[in-house]
Amino acid sequence: PTALSIRDLRKTYGNGVEALRGVSLDVAAGDFFALLGPNGAGKSTLIGIVSSLVNATAGEVDVFGVSVLRERSRAMSLIGLVPQEINFNMFEKPEDILVNQAGFYGVPRRLALERAEKYLTQLQLWEKRNVMSRTLSGGMKRRLMVARAMMNEPRLLILDEPTAGVDIEIRRSMWSFVRQINQAGTTVILTTHYLEEAEQLCRNIAIIDKGGIIENTSMRALLAKL
Ligand code: ADP
Ligand code: ADP
Repeated sequence: PTALSIRDLRKTYGNGVEALRGVSLDVAAGDFFALLGPNGAGKSTLIGIVSSLVNATAGEVDVFGVSVLRERSRAMSLIGLVPQEINFNMFEKPEDILVNQAGFYGVPRRLALERAEKYLTQLQLWEKRNVMSRTLSGGMKRRLMVARAMMNEPRLLILDEPTAGVDIEIRRSMWSFVRQINQAGTTVILTTHYLEEAEQLCRNIAIIDKGGIIENTSMRALLAKL
């Protein structure tokens, strides 16, 4: 099955910027996929459309066969998004942040508590479940963002530049946690402008530049060409 299928996707913003100029892309279920490109290439726009935060100008986007543009809430239930900026409430506790997020998805409270325990443990935050989130380290805050995105147990996890501006140690630990999530069966897509990050993690890759896909291949084939 195909986790993500994008056909001729276009986005022109209100100011006339053509951020996507007819993008087509497929990501297989179970894949760990990189979308690599320089700043301004269109990565966040593409991710924004897939996760229903940005309206497309034209095109088709299907997540596990569900149309994001026509069946928005069904598609959203299949997706977890880790945005670039840390945006949880710093004055809430990690466990509450996760349980509230699950509530937002309509997950019953008991199941929400179970899931929060599962992902707090998996992302090594269980001991921190009841501290003020403000006091977490930078790496822990990033991991809490990932845990929050898992609360609807998405089949597709999307990370937008998950390690932008973080040091190498935090970057490596993020990589190992996200790898675990992929190995447990979740399809993962990440955007990055570091080839090294894509190389360490991803099986397949698309390179986007100026709103168009200029390469779409396996990581191995790309590295053989460089
Ligand atoms: P849409 O067409 O998707 O509704 P808009 O063109 O209305 O998007 O822009 C959304 C908001 O982003 C506006 O407030 C706009 O001013 C702002 N914006 C404009 N240019 C940029 C940019 N280069 N990067 C980020 N935000 C921008
Ligand atoms: P990337 O994530 O690869 O850095 P973006 O998708 O953020 O690329 O941006 C693609 C292009 O669209 C850029 O030229 C950017 O300035 C423009 N852009 C992004 N968001 C908006 C917006 N809300 N309104 C207008 N232009 C935007």
